Amino acid sequence: MLNNIIQYCWQKFLSITHYNHFQWSDFVLFLAVPIGCLIVEAFIIGYSSSSLKKLLTWNASAQNDFFCFLTHAFNLYQIIGIALTFGLFYFAYGVIQKHFCLHLIDYITNPFLQFGLMLFVGDFKNYVRHYLLHRFGWSWELHKLHHSATDFTMLTYLRSHAAETILTNFIDLFPFIIFGAGFQSFVWVYVFREAHQYFIHSQIKSDWGWLGKYILVSPLAHRIHHSINPVHYGKNFGNTFIIWDRLFGTYCEANPETVDVLGIPENPYNQNGFLHDYLFCYVRSIQSVFNFKS
Ligand SMILES: [Zn+2]
Ligand SMILES: [Zn+2]
Repeated sequence: MLNNIIQYCWQKFLSITHYNHFQWSDFVLFLAVPIGCLIVEAFIIGYSSSSLKKLLTWNASAQNDFFCFLTHAFNLYQIIGIALTFGLFYFAYGVIQKHFCLHLIDYITNPFLQFGLMLFVGDFKNYVRHYLLHRFGWSWELHKLHHSATDFTMLTYLRSHAAETILTNFIDLFPFIIFGAGFQSFVWVYVFREAHQYFIHSQIKSDWGWLGKYILVSPLAHRIHHSINPVHYGKNFGNTFIIWDRLFGTYCEANPETVDVLGIPENPYNQNGFLHDYLFCYVRSIQSVFNFKS
């Protein structure tokens, strides 16, 4: 009996972490994108002010970035997140994926239209998802771990709590429900989207000119989103495209002089180590659900 339970748990662990169909090519690609981005950034702005140097300096904020990155690199966030959310989102994810899928993609035959539609719908979903993370007390407490970074190291992109990632994976289901397919399968789209996310969490403080003004989220625009200055709160939620912020009035013009300090007010993070911060973030979120005073 005990043996069966252990066997079941082990199989579940392997399937949730995808270790049972582990592919070196996926793992190498996962590592190659940030390593490549770190090298490119150091070439552009010089090693002395690069993310690479900040990571090697190993300050408390950079340590949290790095350990969160590891939870993603080894897919451990899945197991941690499912345990911390009591399997609820995982269960709902399975049910929805199995029973509620419109497969609209089957009715769109033009591959360019197919791709464009999924890209824009997916990015709009990311905008709404990000807005919602800031909207509710409990989700903001989870998302605070990302915002508690006091400096960008590129790996700040993946500085997120496992419970937040499970929640965001659940929201990611909605385009899938409508279309019945995801476009992550295109390798070059994956590389572009990931590299873009690493660069908007970089030390390159550029607004990217007209490109950052009207099309893509620039590093400076995302810096504004992470700014500690209250006038920047609730601005620039965009993920890949800046158009949603412009459409829904959350756009804030990027200006290097206006963003000097990153983080959250009275920042309780980056002082007691990664495990403390990870647990603290989760406890604060649960307290917020039940409205406990801490
Ligand atoms: Zn945010
Ligand atoms: Zn960010």
